[in-house]
Amino acid sequence: MDTYSDIKYVKGVGPKMAESLNKCGIFNVLDLLLYFPRDYENISVRKSILECAKAEKVIIECTVLSVLGDIRLKNNKTLSTIIFCQGDNEFKGKWFNQTYAKNSFKISSKYLITGKVDKFKEEITIMNPKIVKNTSMDENEIIATYPLKNNITNNFFNKIISDVLCNIIITENLPKGIIEKYSFCSLNDAIRSIHSPKSLELLNEAKRRLKFQELFTYSLKILMLKEFIKSHNNGIQFKMAKELTTLKAILPYNLTKAQSKVVREILIDQKKDIGMNRLLQGDVGSGKTIVAIITMFNVVKNGYQAAMMAPTEILAKQHYEEIKNILKEFSLNIQILSGSTTAKNKQLIKQDLKSGTIDIIVGTHALIEDNVEFQNLGMIVTDEQHRFGVSQRNRFSNKGKNIDILVMTATPIPRTLSLYLYGDLDVSIIDELPPGRQKIDTSYESMDNSSKVYGFALEQINKGRQVYIVCPLVEENEEMKLSSVAMLYEKLKKDQFKYIEVGMVYGKMPSKLKNEIMDKFKAGEIKALVSTTVIEVGVNVPNATVMIIENAERFGLAQLHQLRGRVGRGEHKSYCILLANIKNNIVRKRLGILIKSNDGFFIAEEDLKTRGAGELFGIRQHGESGLILSDVIDDISILKLANSEAKRLIQSDDACDVMVKNEILQKIELTSSYICFN
Ligand code: ADP
Ligand code: MG
Repeated sequence: MDTYSDIKYVKGVGPKMAESLNKCGIFNVLDLLLYFPRDYENISVRKSILECAKAEKVIIECTVLSVLGDIRLKNNKTLSTIIFCQGDNEFKGKWFNQTYAKNSFKISSKYLITGKVDKFKEEITIMNPKIVKNTSMDENEIIATYPLKNNITNNFFNKIISDVLCNIIITENLPKGIIEKYSFCSLNDAIRSIHSPKSLELLNEAKRRLKFQELFTYSLKILMLKEFIKSHNNGIQFKMAKELTTLKAILPYNLTKAQSKVVREILIDQKKDIGMNRLLQGDVGSGKTIVAIITMFNVVKNGYQAAMMAPTEILAKQHYEEIKNILKEFSLNIQILSGSTTAKNKQLIKQDLKSGTIDIIVGTHALIEDNVEFQNLGMIVTDEQHRFGVSQRNRFSNKGKNIDILVMTATPIPRTLSLYLYGDLDVSIIDELPPGRQKIDTSYESMDNSSKVYGFALEQINKGRQVYIVCPLVEENEEMKLSSVAMLYEKLKKDQFKYIEVGMVYGKMPSKLKNEIMDKFKAGEIKALVSTTVIEVGVNVPNATVMIIENAERFGLAQLHQLRGRVGRGEHKSYCILLANIKNNIVRKRLGILIKSNDGFFIAEEDLKTRGAGELFGIRQHGESGLILSDVIDDISILKLANSEAKRLIQSDDACDVMVKNEILQKIELTSSYICFN
């Protein structure tokens, strides 16, 4: 067996299980070894069944006494039961609709199980018990838990990994100098310890090395991308179109100083024979869209096409309308391509993009589908870039040769971090808001006071204004007791908002319906809009003056700041009301930051102190950065080291040309096949 052996030949796997493992992105032994645990259970802390509290998640050592027959319940569920004992004390393990679960247990055998405790009078039950391990296995006290699916059990997964580890030696792949300099453990030890750590110290050593390796590879990639861009000086040289003066004259407002400065920076980039790669940062409402429109217009007037990509359909549509409006005098062909475009129109648009009759195309990620082709794409703008990762960025830029790329974000990225995350980009910043903006009155209220808050919202509606209400969930979740869009919508319709038009939107809703509702809200027909965070970015309805956020403690500060930015866009005084559990000191303190400050940069820095960067930038969820083990904030010190070593390597004589660099990278990278296992 070697690292590239097919997973189906691993002992105990077989073709059926191999299929399930394939679904987790595991095809060969190497993939298996690089499928890192999500967490660890310290099983040295075992409990006596008598000490367990209701709803507690516990690890229990026990023996199987008997397996009862399945029972069909009235609600159509099937109940399976096992009687366990721990010493003289008996308790039950129960499963609903998982009749297969009991099959892993043998009568009279001893197990270590984990599950949630339920107590009714004297009877103790563990719900959905899972085997942590058969106690006959060797005595590791720290057990890895993996993000698994398709009925692969954690116990089984640990077992095949431990079998593989017994039969394989992993060769070192980091330069010797680096290993010695930082006293890293070997790759062989690191992989062993990450899966079945003999002690916490060894686990930490393994993590330190593997994180370094991950961040080292990541830094190398960014640096190489940057080098590649700089060395390919055959970008398109756009002239300054004379029509820019006309456009400037008919804009509905004067650009702010900061906007003009940024437009200039972009136009200068466009003139150069190097492709542009620029990140445009500007707080919510600072007016980034118009910058994109002006510079795309310049590209179009040079005879090229421009494309703009937005993270949500709602936002794409809004941009589309604004672009059409601002450029209406110039008879350009401007189109939108998104999930709700009919198949027939899609076909037409694709044809027209290919033949070059479309000047500007706006869209969602439908734009990066492989079969969208352009005649002569000159510039790409991606809005709210923090939602797209490095690989998406690359895929989009492959649509044309040396096209200019502008990425825009309202999530301010602290400089140190942007260097590492977007090290291949130049940065422009809009650091002022258009004149006349009023400060948004921000406050927090206890959830118990929500009727008062909705009363205030109703007053505003009666004055002709509109209201956003944001909830963390789409549907009710009994367990978490959080507000949901569906529930709140029903409640408001019955109660306080009985006589007014209320709408509801969420991400998974059919696009057509979503568009209809947003259109009605924009037109002022819908007065109150209940939604998830789909409206978080970019949506612009100046008549909306109240933003109510339910369970505000569930959101990150940067995200709340974004949401708040949906109001205060017109002439009327605006309000942001955060409904939360304010009895909690920490919650009050965090929300207090928003009340105190309106500066996105400050807020993001504060947020960074309490939350990981992955959450802040939405990288973690999308797995886009490819970082599995590391968190760019928590591990910033390792990131710094990794970055400096990567720089040294790139600049050294040993890595003189691109081929050599690529070879080095390939050797060091812990392959990429494990990155996509969504
Ligand atoms: P963001 O940077 O958050 O994307 P937008 O581009 O959506 O901001 O702009 C927010 C609002 O400000 C829009 O209604 C836009 O028309 C308006 N706006 C942009 N620039 C100016 C300006 N210089 N003066 C006045 N209003 C402006
Ligand atoms: Mg925007």
